[in-house]
Amino acid sequence: MTQAFDVVIVGAGMVGAALAAGLGRSGFRVALVDQGAAPFFDASQPPDIRVSALSAGSERYLTELGAWPEILTMRATPYTRLAVWDETDHPLSSVLPRKIAEAVFDARNLSASHLGHIVENRVTQQALWNCAGTQPSVTLFAGHAVTRLINGDDRAEVTLDDGTELSGELIVGADGASSGVRNLAGIGITRDQYQQQAMVISVRYQGPVQDITWQGFYPSGPRAFLPLHSAGSGESWASLVWYDSPEELARLKALDNSALMAEIQNAFPPELPPLTHIDAKASFPIARQHARKYVNNRVVLAGDAAHTINPLAGQGVNLGFADARCLQLVLREARRAGNSLASPAQLDQYEQQRRPANRRMMLTMDVFYHLFSNRTPPLHLLRNLGLGAAKAMPFARNRVAKYAMGIDDELPPVIRQLAAKLPGLKQL
Ligand SMILES: Cc1cc2nc3c(=O)[nH]c(=O)nc-3n(C[C@H](O)[C@H](O)[C@H](O)COP(=O)(O)OP(=O)(O)OC[C@H]3O[C@@H](n4cnc5c(N)ncnc54)[C@H](O)[C@@H]3O)c2cc1C
Repeated sequence: MTQAFDVVIVGAGMVGAALAAGLGRSGFRVALVDQGAAPFFDASQPPDIRVSALSAGSERYLTELGAWPEILTMRATPYTRLAVWDETDHPLSSVLPRKIAEAVFDARNLSASHLGHIVENRVTQQALWNCAGTQPSVTLFAGHAVTRLINGDDRAEVTLDDGTELSGELIVGADGASSGVRNLAGIGITRDQYQQQAMVISVRYQGPVQDITWQGFYPSGPRAFLPLHSAGSGESWASLVWYDSPEELARLKALDNSALMAEIQNAFPPELPPLTHIDAKASFPIARQHARKYVNNRVVLAGDAAHTINPLAGQGVNLGFADARCLQLVLREARRAGNSLASPAQLDQYEQQRRPANRRMMLTMDVFYHLFSNRTPPLHLLRNLGLGAAKAMPFARNRVAKYAMGIDDELPPVIRQLAAKLPGLKQL
């Protein structure tokens, strides 16, 4: 027998679980489905290899959902300083400061207590599952993949791999970058694979927990340090991210831990504290991907299912949370107005608000990538940039970094101009 809900959310990653918690709080009958088992956190566990820098905006949203206090009780590391600087020798390298000392944004100068938190994905996901699961109108279906979808005029329906059938006024695909819902709903994507990949390395270092997160740009790609909690005995955990060619990362991954530790210590800036252990490593291909539309009849996409961006400024899930919050408000308004949850006028509002914002962040990441990758910037880029814009660059640099890190809402005009001229972006 088919079980009926208002909204069926496929994918209980951070974005799907946040949306379920938010809709549940507003009394919507929600089915939240994930092919994986429920996340599990234990304070004695080493950190999850996947961590995210959560912006102040995401923190506010997670507080609204009731998840933030639980995240703080588990593990979250605030950072009060953030540095982005340039070690490349590049015609446009004046866009960013040259040394860490010139490049630090400090929460104190912004009258804020902190700039953001580094949180393990497993911690955020678990807190959100708990928030969603305690809402009486939310039902969790863990350990079952969606294999079939009907996107009908009157109602939509999904079938799970054990034959369970769930119907809803609306199906939300929050099932990540390779979204099956997106494919089953016939929504295409534009996709560009970057030449760099990212290797994430979970390490311990000597010394107390640092309050700074930083990223230095090198000719072969950025190298970043994200502080995590104390490991006891005078050591702390951190997550390092090393962007490089797939070949170089494969070579590094094949090294034993002590050889890799020596390579890291050599290749990273002197600001990296002395490492004591490498605990885990994984590499990720990186791609820019955008769904051609976010809505098709009774199917809506959110989070990585709708867009993936270059993770170099750590904005992916922050955008996904903004999608979830927007969709939640749009659906609440539809209900208040007595409209169907799948009303095209209502769902258009979601797409009209979120697509330009997501696109803007994609463009910013591409400005970073093109300006600081080891390739000479395309000649036409330099030509189109013009002298006036080039002169304005150094003044824009702080604002670019602040925007990319979620501190500022607006990109400086010179960068908007430049982003519009980057190759391959018109179709986004
Ligand atoms: C190296 C790296 C570093 C990053 N750093 C940051 C950062 O610092 N800050 C930041 O904001 N973002 C960061 N990101 C991006 C961030 O990790 C993603 O944007 C985020 O995880 C997307 O969340 P999501 O819930 O949309 O999708 P996902 O996390 O992919 O979740 C999708 C869920 O759907 C489930 N699912 C899939 N298919 C099915 C199916 N058929 N049936 C049922 N369930 C299904 C999966 O099991 C999964 O739980 C980083 C990404 C990378 C690669």
